[in-house]
Amino acid sequence: MRALTWQGVQDVRVDSVPDPRILEPTDAIVRITSTAICGSDLHLYGVLAAYLTPGDVLGHEPMGVVEEVGPGVTHLRPGDRVVVPFNVSCGSCWMCARGLQSQCEVTQVRSRSKGAALLGYTSLYGQVPGGQAEYLRVPQAQYGPVRVPDDGWPDERYLYLSDVLPTAWQAVEYADVPPGGSVVVLGLGPVGQMAARVALYRGAATVIGVDLVAERLAMAARHGVDVLDLGAVDDLPAAIRDRTSGRGPDAVIDAVGMEAHGSPVSELLQRGAAYVPGVVARPLIEKAGVDRLAALLSAIAIVRRGGTISLSGVYGGARDALPMMELFDKQVTLRMGQANVRRWVDDLLPLVADESDPLGVLDLRTHRVALEDAPAAYEMFQKKQDGCVKVVLDPTL
Ligand code: NAD
Ligand code: ZN
Ligand code: ZN
Repeated sequence: MRALTWQGVQDVRVDSVPDPRILEPTDAIVRITSTAICGSDLHLYGVLAAYLTPGDVLGHEPMGVVEEVGPGVTHLRPGDRVVVPFNVSCGSCWMCARGLQSQCEVTQVRSRSKGAALLGYTSLYGQVPGGQAEYLRVPQAQYGPVRVPDDGWPDERYLYLSDVLPTAWQAVEYADVPPGGSVVVLGLGPVGQMAARVALYRGAATVIGVDLVAERLAMAARHGVDVLDLGAVDDLPAAIRDRTSGRGPDAVIDAVGMEAHGSPVSELLQRGAAYVPGVVARPLIEKAGVDRLAALLSAIAIVRRGGTISLSGVYGGARDALPMMELFDKQVTLRMGQANVRRWVDDLLPLVADESDPLGVLDLRTHRVALEDAPAAYEMFQKKQDGCVKVVLDPTL
């Protein structure tokens, strides 16, 4: 089959690789019909290169049609339309029973990070080949895959249940915005777009989205989000205080994640790359001298005293310097982590299946391209070119 493989820093290719087959009784094989690129893939594309081996198959946001199931998989049949969560979780261990599927004790054993295995996230998370491919072996398929209606709606109605929507939902849950309260969403990539919409849907009165890419600001604005262009303000915390009664918001959601200072990516930046995920645009880096915690430091500065910071953006440093005095003194609550995908699916499935599309899932994907065009699509998504927000690969084209 054809699959997207990692070859080196900012080097991915579509190769022929062996077809996956059932290895465990709880496996399923899914024929992929849509498979998205995520900001988390961009970390692998760059800053996390040390954890990859050339040939690793990436991708953790797939959906498709069940081809085959092992004898331990009883809730699925060949022909079922399914979305596959990015966490590989068993559904019955101590952690899964408590809704912490990202900490599944059964699948964490092969992860260098000790978190639950993730699709397409290399040796860091269990070395499970990913779903940017024609076919995917789904481990723990007795629990993971979510059956969705075969109702003629495009895949994009359901696809984001694999990651973006549960991530956004958990970000808002962890942000703990009081009724009628305020929340700032840093970063308006796919995760930030959806976090802002979920916050509005769940009753936040003020939702301010911050980014520096015009098309992303425009998309958020058309879904009712107040937007602020990072490139157009000198003092972001002051600009936010002006819009939040002088105190700052009740919560900040960081949907940006790690910056790449001191990493292979920052070397690329020094060599002139125009844009790196999680990093403000190059002129701003030079102006502000930001480090890899740029967005998190903004969140700490912005949040009101006694407020909450919810991190869905990924941070990967082993020992980062944080302004502990400010965090302590402001009495900040900080919550974070990989989304526990299956925990939130029951909340989300009725919303995405609702014809009126209350979260606007049909307005997120900007590009749908053949799997064969994935290398160019990665580059476009990384550089935020051509107005891209969500990019979906289609192995059937
Ligand atoms: P993305 O790269 O498309 O979006 C990031 C956005 O942040 C971009 O639009 C960029 O312009 C903006 N940005 C960069 N620096 C900024 C700054 N300092 N302030 C404000 N905005 C800034 O990625 P995405 O797909 O939306 O993912 C966002 C983050 O969420 C990534 O770190 C990704 O790894 C993470 N993620 C986490 C989970 C989870 O389970 N916790 C799941 C999915 C994605
Ligand atoms: Zn993802
Ligand atoms: Zn488990």
